[in-house]
Amino acid sequence: MLKMSEFAKLTDEDNNNLKQNYIKKLDDRNFRELINTLNVDENLLMKYTSSLEESAKEFANCRKCPSRDKCKNEIKGYMYSPKVDDNKITFSYVACAYEEKHLRDIKYRENVLLFEVPKKISEASLKDLYKDDKNRTEIIKYFKKFTEGYGKEFIKGMYLYGSFGCGKTYLIAALFNEFAKKDIKSAIVYVPEFLRALKSSFGTNFEEKYDYIKKVPLLLLDDIGAENLTPWARDEILGTILQYRMDQNLPTFFTSNLSLKQIEEHFTVTSNGKETIKGRRIIERINFLSEEFELTSKNRRS
Ligand code: ADP
Ligand code: MG
Repeated sequence: MLKMSEFAKLTDEDNNNLKQNYIKKLDDRNFRELINTLNVDENLLMKYTSSLEESAKEFANCRKCPSRDKCKNEIKGYMYSPKVDDNKITFSYVACAYEEKHLRDIKYRENVLLFEVPKKISEASLKDLYKDDKNRTEIIKYFKKFTEGYGKEFIKGMYLYGSFGCGKTYLIAALFNEFAKKDIKSAIVYVPEFLRALKSSFGTNFEEKYDYIKKVPLLLLDDIGAENLTPWARDEILGTILQYRMDQNLPTFFTSNLSLKQIEEHFTVTSNGKETIKGRRIIERINFLSEEFELTSKNRRS
């Protein structure tokens, strides 16, 4: 690197501003320390003063940082970092050591396929559950029984119903996360969107996804009953998935705003009119696959 005195001699009309600006920034210790790590000629450095300044700020934050949660950088867990390449400096966001550990720690979440469910649900955890609902203990007891029995015998999933926002999806997602840690795959499928997407997608790779969902070890059909139900969706899609999972003893969970009794009507009446037997058949499959629970609690959506 050039010494300050040599550097000063390089002044030329075009570079003057760049250089002045750069020299000013050299007063900042963090800036100096950062550029010292780069080992690059100052004529090059001064073209990147503002980006380097940004990096230096983040670099200083990182040095004092006690944990990922306390990160003060622009993008949590990442540092805006310079890289010297062929007489050029490029900048990119690089994960810090805390972030790298965090990414390793949450790797298990990849075992849960989310289909049109808010990504945030993947953070659901049994140890963070609210404990203020009357019937939550009963549900947790069932989770325990399910977890202990899984793989040894067929245990029904849950048909969990209750009002909008009371935490149904969260509960099942928390259970699936526990299984994900043991490398057992699951899927959470938002049913209304799944059926809509399926309808408009034949011939695409959607069939692969459909197949995956049908066969995945643990499945949550989320918000069943909220879909716009066609006879095709009921008989060919839902009916087929449920039948397959019954035949293969694959645990299947459901959440809904409607109780099983209420949802029977929904499955009975489609554009084909009233088809009691077809509606009944779906209910019987759900009954075979799951045990009904009501969740009563206040709305948790903020
Ligand atoms: P539902 O499926 O019954 O409509 P959700 O499971 O989507 O409700 O929950 C509503 C909101 O409350 C979500 O943002 C979810 O993350 C949050 N939530 C629900 N239960 C819990 C819980 N036990 N701990 C923390 N957050 C929760
Ligand atoms: Mg839900």
